[in-house]
Amino acid sequence: MRIIHRISISSSRDIQRELAELGIAVRDSGLVSFNIDENLAKEWPDLEDWIQHRRAVDVVSTKFSRKEILAADWLELVPEWHFGYPQPDDGAFGYRQASYDLSDWCGSCGIGMMQNAPFQMKREPKWGKRGILQLNWVFDEFFAKPAVWERVFRPYGVGFRPVVNTKGRELKTVGQIVVGEEVDIVTVGLPAEICRRCGRRKYLPVGRGRFPALVNKPPTAIVKTSQYFGSGAAAHKRVLVSQSVAHALVVEKVGGVSLRPLSCLSPEKTPSTSFSGDETDE
Ligand SMILES: [Zn+2]
Repeated sequence: MRIIHRISISSSRDIQRELAELGIAVRDSGLVSFNIDENLAKEWPDLEDWIQHRRAVDVVSTKFSRKEILAADWLELVPEWHFGYPQPDDGAFGYRQASYDLSDWCGSCGIGMMQNAPFQMKREPKWGKRGILQLNWVFDEFFAKPAVWERVFRPYGVGFRPVVNTKGRELKTVGQIVVGEEVDIVTVGLPAEICRRCGRRKYLPVGRGRFPALVNKPPTAIVKTSQYFGSGAAAHKRVLVSQSVAHALVVEKVGGVSLRPLSCLSPEKTPSTSFSGDETDE
């Protein structure tokens, strides 16, 4: 597991000099960005203080080895490709009315939308070598090529829902992966905020390390968290897949998503399937 920080800041001569003292070379003007692996960089503790002091933007992500991925019982499905915006009328968030029941939705925190109609896309996705996508704004749904659903998801009883264009015609190369079940995750220690308008809770996105552990074993091979994550007016559930689905995604080399292992409740528990892979990522 590697913890990667993407640091960005508006540079100056002072910033350039301070970073040079920490062994990092940047320009002396304009926006500068650099990546740091916190376990490999010996200057990380000093740099961490510097980030606080200078209020630099620090976006944390975690990279897992193939071995770690294939040894995990459950994993978060993490989007790597966002294809356009949900339709219609993306200038005015028309997809909310078109695809959701909004009776329980709070416009302040974003919690409570319930899908009640197919998603609409402008056109067939430009898939290239990828097999799964997410739409911008809709961070709790995944869409796949029919062949990917057939090989990876269908064997585990996962449904596939049509996607239509703005005229209501069904698209041929994409469908929605249906995630019906919701499960609780362990939320102890997760920073949260309570909405002032509706009183509901959501958790700040967890970018570092493994995703939080499950409370109970899920009943199906793909589930959503019942907890919402996000900040401001955005709130989304997270999609989790079992080892069997993750294994199929890796074997089929499906592009457009990555996998992030969940923490285990009992560390001594052994994975349900063993796999003798190597450490190299493909
Ligand atoms: Zn609210």
